[in-house]
Parts: sequence; C-alpha cells; structure tokens
Amino acid sequence: MSRFFSHRFDSLTAYTPGEQPQDQQYIKLNTNESPFEPSPDVIKAVSSEEVGKLRLYSDPECKRTVQAIADYYGVKSKNVVLGNGSDEILSFIFQAYCDSDTPVAFPDISYGFYSVFARLYGIEADVIPLKEDYSLDVNDYCGIGKTVVIANPNAPTGMAVSLADIEKLLVSNPDNIVVIDEAYVDFGADSAVALTKKYSNLIVVQTFSKSRQLAGARLGFAIAHENIITDLNTIRFSTNPYNINRLTLLAGEASIKDTAYFESTRTEIIANREYTVTELEKRGFRVLPSKTNFVFAAHSEAGGEELYSKLKARGILVRYFNKERLSDFLRITIGTREQMDALLNTLDAILSERE
Ligand SMILES: *Cc1c(COP(=O)(O)O)cnc(C)c1O
Repeated sequence: MSRFFSHRFDSLTAYTPGEQPQDQQYIKLNTNESPFEPSPDVIKAVSSEEVGKLRLYSDPECKRTVQAIADYYGVKSKNVVLGNGSDEILSFIFQAYCDSDTPVAFPDISYGFYSVFARLYGIEADVIPLKEDYSLDVNDYCGIGKTVVIANPNAPTGMAVSLADIEKLLVSNPDNIVVIDEAYVDFGADSAVALTKKYSNLIVVQTFSKSRQLAGARLGFAIAHENIITDLNTIRFSTNPYNINRLTLLAGEASIKDTAYFESTRTEIIANREYTVTELEKRGFRVLPSKTNFVFAAHSEAGGEELYSKLKARGILVRYFNKERLSDFLRITIGTREQMDALLNTLDAILSERE
C-alpha cells in the first residue's frame, strides 16, 4: 500500500475471490457458478443491435428488469432494487443500516464479504459462532438490537434455517433490519420473499449469479418494504445511478422471464447434488446437509488442503478454506453429471494412492 492510503483502512483485509483461471484448463467447481450457459432467450436479447446502443447510458430506474423481477415474485416494482451483483446490494445495506449506534451481527462461518464490509465502513461486528454441528441457532439473534445478516442457505456450509425461525428473528427485532441473503435459495430452501409483505424490517437479497447463469453479468437485487427500497436507492444514486449496464439489464429481464429454462437447470443441479452426496459418502466423506449448488465435505482421513492441491494438479478446482473449523473440508460446486463423475473418479485415484 502507498503511504497515502487512509488510516481508516489499517485493519481492512480485502475479500479474496475464488480463483478465476483465464485458460479454461480446469473443471471449475470452486466459485458456485452454473455449469450451464444462460437461457437461449438471454443470448438472443444481447444482440449486436443492443451492443450498438452502448453509447447511451443505461436506464437508471432499471424499469423493465425491475418489473420483470417484481412480476416473478408477486411484489410491486417499488419493492425491488437492483445491484451490480448482490455484493453491491449488501454494500448499500451496510452503508444504510449500520453505524456507530447500530452494529451488525452475523455468524462466524458465513459469506466472507460481511466482515469485509464491516471493516470497510468501520462498523462494529458481533460475530456469533455457529453450533458445533455448523447449524445456526436463531435464538442467538433474537432481540439482539443490531442489524442482522444471515445467508440462508448459509455458505460455505450449505445448511438452511426454516421460515418459522426467520419469522422469529423478525418478530424479536422489530426495531432492527434483518437481512436474509438468499444467493442459493433456488436450490431447495424456503424463500422469505413473501414475509417482506408482513415485516417492514426484512430485506431479502438474491442474485442471478448462482441459479440463473449470469455470474459474469453482475446482477443482484433486494426485495423489501418500499421505504427500504427508497433508502437503498438513495445510496445507489449517491454511488452510481447507472450501476447496471444496458446488456445486463436485458440479460436479467430475459432470464427471469424464461421460467422453463430456470426450472430445468435448477432441477438438474439438485439431482446432481443428491447423486454427488451419495457418492462422496460412499468414499468416506462427511457431507453437511446442503440446500445449495455446492456441498461442503470432509474426508475421514485426507485433509482439505491435501485434497484441494491434488485435485488442482489433476485439473479440478474446488475451494478450500484455511480457517479454524473449516480446514478439513472442501467446498465443491455442483456441475454437470459428467463433471461430477470426473471429480469422483479423480478422488478415487487420489485416495487409492494414499493407501
Ligand atoms: C455468491 C454470493 C453472493 C454474491 O453474489 P453476486 O455475484 O455478487 O451476486 C452473495 N452472498 C452469498 C452468500 C454468495 O454466496
């Protein structure tokens, strides 16, 4: 860092994204992207004619895409705001609803960006340990008097909490914002979107990156009471009113309207996940119960780092976390059936060499 960098950031450690090798040499099971291409409707929507219109700014109100998302979820367009990825939505939320009077609370094992945003914005964080079995006890957050941020299902564990538990959180924290980050909800957990009609302190955050094949387009959104959306738009228009580019707006609209493609791809991922869990367990892995497009698995003998390195040497990328309580595990994104078979065969080779 330079000597000019503000001391405000002395304790800031930036988020480390998963590896994105640019040579396409790997079977990539490390950043929870979809193995499928975007819907054919998305590819049609991003036409050369639309590329030609890039000379013009995008719609700052994101009208058509917001409306399409609102229609899909049965809410009004005034209940939806878009972000350049849900990371940006989370950034807006930390700025809008956390300060020296209102700290933030989130689990010790969860999405890494929460602690990064807390540091970036100088917000005190109450980091609450998950239970021994990696489950989240909502009682730890009831009446906490802080902004609560929970990924449901959680990452990297893949485990979900029930809607009844989320409602308990909302009722017990009427004067605080509760954020439910539903990046993976389409793979089998219950969404809290309907609760946004009943609770004005709830923000549901979702993304097109995991279940809608648009990680590289950068599109996320929040659904909440209209007053919350107004707040988030104040932050958005004070940051970048054109935060969603023209092509991404078109891609997002086409994607959310193609429900058949969405249903078939997410169903296939869920089936491949169940297959992978069974096969990993046969090979001596403990696999946490996943409602996501990844599994979090620990082998009875081989450690996380060893398996990560040996898989990488053989052309398969998975994620490994060098952190207490996580270092025995691999986080493996669910890909196509062929990719999962390649992973399983490679694990067989690695494990048989150890014997
Ligand atoms: C992937 C992910 C996000 C961010 O996704 P974007 O690509 O920024 O939309 C947010 N929260 C969780 C828990 C995630 O896993």
